[in-house]
Amino acid sequence: MLITASRIHNGYQWLPPGTVIEVADDGSIIALHSEDAPLADVVHYDGILSPGFVNAHCHLELSHMKDLVGEGTGLMHFLQQVIWKRESFTIEQKITARHEAYDELLENGVVAVGDIANSADTLDIRALDRLHIHTFVECLGFTEERAQQMLDFSEKVYLQYTAQQSGDKILRQSIVPHAPYSVSPSLFRLIDAYDKDALISIHNEETIEELNFYKDKSGAVNDLLHSLNIDAAFFEPSGKSPLQTYLPYFSPSHPFIFVHNTFATAEDLQFAQDNFPAVYWCLCPNANKYIEGRLPDMDMLLQHAKNICIGTDSLTSNHQLCILSELYTIRAQYSGLEWGLLLRWATSSGAAALQMQDKIGSIEPGKQPGIVQITGLDDNNIRPTPKRIM
Ligand SMILES: [Zn+2]
Repeated sequence: MLITASRIHNGYQWLPPGTVIEVADDGSIIALHSEDAPLADVVHYDGILSPGFVNAHCHLELSHMKDLVGEGTGLMHFLQQVIWKRESFTIEQKITARHEAYDELLENGVVAVGDIANSADTLDIRALDRLHIHTFVECLGFTEERAQQMLDFSEKVYLQYTAQQSGDKILRQSIVPHAPYSVSPSLFRLIDAYDKDALISIHNEETIEELNFYKDKSGAVNDLLHSLNIDAAFFEPSGKSPLQTYLPYFSPSHPFIFVHNTFATAEDLQFAQDNFPAVYWCLCPNANKYIEGRLPDMDMLLQHAKNICIGTDSLTSNHQLCILSELYTIRAQYSGLEWGLLLRWATSSGAAALQMQDKIGSIEPGKQPGIVQITGLDDNNIRPTPKRIM
């Protein structure tokens, strides 16, 4: 099949006008042809063609909590609500919600997801075999004495995912820390040692409270821990940023995805990039707006971040699971950003962050990236919409 469009983004950049994509029935890219190649029966699409999107940070298992926590209440209140309410649903409600969320990702042109899991609930949607999935089994426990127990619990979940057979799509998993204020130093070290090459994802510097806690142990993190009956007496504030405190617990062999980064600084980015070979900064702007009402410092990120990718976070903190909507939110605030760059973050960069770049993320011969048609991107008056065509 031969297809073209007014503009084609290959995952890295815009292709020359008139480029034609030759694609097999199974979605594999066979070749790219220039405008002057003698070709017949080329199908022309309106708008833009792009590789399928990569959602580098999602929580499909929390899909049943949509609209349950109000907007703008701050991360600490948000987390309390999630912890208290996540189990007040029936198994059927949870199953229905995560299947609907899975379908929503597909409809919105997502081909791969980095999905956080605290339980084995999402084994069922991984078995559907329509999305590539890296499941990040999230380990948390702000305790020094019970750190090994916390890791043991996560390992039990992890082994259930490991035992699942892959079909046509990629299925992978790793054990990862939740966030700097929910993982003790001992637990950070145990997570590192469990698999020193594992892809690590962590909620990083999402709220100013996290920074206050590491600076001088002040602020609302104490209230959260207190409400959960967690004794934080062992914790000595480092006086440094969270990232610069916890990263030294990790071996330099880990690839990293830092998620949110709302309060990350240029020094944090430099520190991570100087000490680890593969570092990705994942932005979830709609969730940041929903929870904290604030976006990360894009000027700083553009200047210092080597790699940026995009996530939606969960339906608990977002009205939809749509990567294009995340790009739209960034651009609404930073109108100077080129769509070409934004699409790169959403495709090839996300694929590399999840270590799936050999298969997806770019329109190149031999890959099977999925192809998405985007209309409305050049019209400031309408919201662009994605549609999976392949
Ligand atoms: Zn998250």
